[in-house]
Amino acid sequence: MNLRLMSVHAHPDDESSKGAATLAKYAAEGVEVLVVTCTGGERGDVLNPAMDRPGVRENLAAIRRDEMAEARRILGVRQRFLGFVDSGLPGPGEPLPEGCFALAPLEEAAGRLVGLIRSFRPHVVVTYDETGGYPHPDHIRTHQVTVAAFDAAGEAGRHPEAGAPWRPLKLYYQGGLSRPWFQALHDAMTARGMDSGMREVLAELPETGLEITTRVPCAEYFATRDRALLAHATQIDPNAGFMVHDRDVEREVWPTEDYHLARSHVDVDVDVDVDGATPEDDLFAGVRRPRRPQRPTAAAGAAASPGCG
Ligand SMILES: [Zn+2]
Repeated sequence: MNLRLMSVHAHPDDESSKGAATLAKYAAEGVEVLVVTCTGGERGDVLNPAMDRPGVRENLAAIRRDEMAEARRILGVRQRFLGFVDSGLPGPGEPLPEGCFALAPLEEAAGRLVGLIRSFRPHVVVTYDETGGYPHPDHIRTHQVTVAAFDAAGEAGRHPEAGAPWRPLKLYYQGGLSRPWFQALHDAMTARGMDSGMREVLAELPETGLEITTRVPCAEYFATRDRALLAHATQIDPNAGFMVHDRDVEREVWPTEDYHLARSHVDVDVDVDVDGATPEDDLFAGVRRPRRPQRPTAAAGAAASPGCG
């Protein structure tokens, strides 16, 4: 059975900062992986001081396309743009720019994604939760468009111009960069006498987050993730933010990327046990044939994922 995974994102670079090791792992295992990028990232800033030089801002759209192509190659996945224009991040009270993705009619945007779902025929679709995971209008719109398209793609009467119906089996939300993740890395680095640089982020993060149903072990692909991130050279400062925490510590204390199962058309058991053991370790659980055996006990599951409870 040829398994197919679609990961829907707002801007070029989001695929590399959210769930990239998962994509690289599944691609390496022979799963067909398609990243869909809703916008071209045209209104992004230049976030890497080394790239803030003449000619970059003027050509940001073209440069970001090239960066995306390189990241896609590094991850070993396919990628398509949905063709909308970046909404930017308006200040408080500022209107959204005319013609941007966040203002595009939901039906039209979902219809385009339905077309990609029906041609690629993914078994699993991944996107952001309703908060966008990050308060950017394009991230919130990406969630709305993906959920609408996930529900519509299997119905023959919806978007009949977009091809023959295909119903994906599972929809996940990204659960990475969570408070527990920051806390675990901060604690582990502090215990080793390192400066985590995460104290400020931790102070601002909400206490509660998405319930995690699924942890995909993918530590051996963190280096691939990092290379894909650095390919987005205008967006990623190699000396700041996500790039600076200790990679050995990360592999040791948090060797997974995490997800919340939002919809399923296959039998799943995703009730989180009282001891916190996570039910799934595979986005295709219940989709693969024959079905993977259930974990024998919660204790065995916990032992297999140290530090993830
Ligand atoms: Zn983004």
